[in-house]
Amino acid sequence: MVSRGTTQQSSAPFNRRIVLDVIRRQGRISRREIVELVSLSPQTVANITNELQTIGLIVARRIRGAKARGQPPIAFELNPNAGNSLGISLEPGRISAGLVNLVGEILERREVAIDTHDQRVVLASVVALIRELRRRPAAAERLWGIGVALPGPLVKTDISFVGPTTLEGWTDLAVLDELRDLTRLQVFYSVDSVAAALGETLFGVARSLDNFFYMHFGVGLGGTLVVNRSAYRGASGNATEIGHIPAVPGGKSCYCGNSGCLERYLSLQSLAEALGVSEAPQRDALIVAQLERNDDPALKGWCREAAERLRDAVCVIENMLDPATIVIGGSAPKLLVERLVALAQPLHHSVRGGVAAPTVRILLSERQEDSSILGAAVLPIYDLLSPRFEVLQQERRADADVAGLMGQRAASRAGRL
Ligand SMILES: [Zn+2]
Repeated sequence: MVSRGTTQQSSAPFNRRIVLDVIRRQGRISRREIVELVSLSPQTVANITNELQTIGLIVARRIRGAKARGQPPIAFELNPNAGNSLGISLEPGRISAGLVNLVGEILERREVAIDTHDQRVVLASVVALIRELRRRPAAAERLWGIGVALPGPLVKTDISFVGPTTLEGWTDLAVLDELRDLTRLQVFYSVDSVAAALGETLFGVARSLDNFFYMHFGVGLGGTLVVNRSAYRGASGNATEIGHIPAVPGGKSCYCGNSGCLERYLSLQSLAEALGVSEAPQRDALIVAQLERNDDPALKGWCREAAERLRDAVCVIENMLDPATIVIGGSAPKLLVERLVALAQPLHHSVRGGVAAPTVRILLSERQEDSSILGAAVLPIYDLLSPRFEVLQQERRADADVAGLMGQRAASRAGRL
């Protein structure tokens, strides 16, 4: 599905976004094809593509093999060098950071193992990582801002910042305002599953999907429902924290105060407990090594049970929400997720059974371990590349010329997406 433009004069920024969105989705597209897809006049499309070229967001390339009679046919595509974004993924015990360009390529990546309990230590480390990434020449070009992805729930609740799958010990996110002041860059943040889901929408396997469910398999387990390419928030902004859905009556006790929560069976934390290893770098290396050998009874037993929980979770999500697909991403090793999905077959009967092929009911992120960084990096540019109309009424980002042209205004604090 492609969004339609509108002829109202006040909607000029919206039409620019519509055209930019079509170009991003199609990868490469001629002006005539844009006109057909967005229902705008050829003149309006010509004006918009000229503007987008002038500000450097798109580039025109001659279509190869086209016959050169009259005007040479050209196609437009996003300009990968139109600017970069910094993505920071905060997980318990680990900070991952990347410099990402406008077409979702990670140009530079860094990772540090760190005790994340102390906000001051985390802030210092993030600032140092950003300094390193900004040394890369590409970062000297337009920098759209910093996106930070963190485990939820972020809006204060009984279960925020509680337990080893969260940023335990934190009480608020004022540190992100400090990050903005120290780097003098716009800072946007979001729950990791929301960020990664938006990353899949812009650059991943969900690029052509408007509605899907995203499951974030990392140290903990999170989820995000994407509706019309926006994350569904719920009443207080904490929707779809599937990690704490009761899955096993009388099951393992959970840090949230309940027992049998899904995350206690389906998360890296749960696997690490089963294998008796806790620290992040050793944990992931050990998991991959043991998966490859596939001879550890503890690992095999955990995988069997986790796959059962995954099969049930897929059924609940599908019957509840009827999503086009369930995308699984997160920092878990891809080999592990592939193993669990294979063991979870055949899937339960559900409203998606007989409608979607088994291979479509679950899709794995192609970025898997990088999906958090990519998702975080998407936060500063999501509004730019997404034609969601409500975005135009919000006060947020700052990049002067382009922001003005695209209908955006400056923000004074770290912004939540
Ligand atoms: Zn729980």
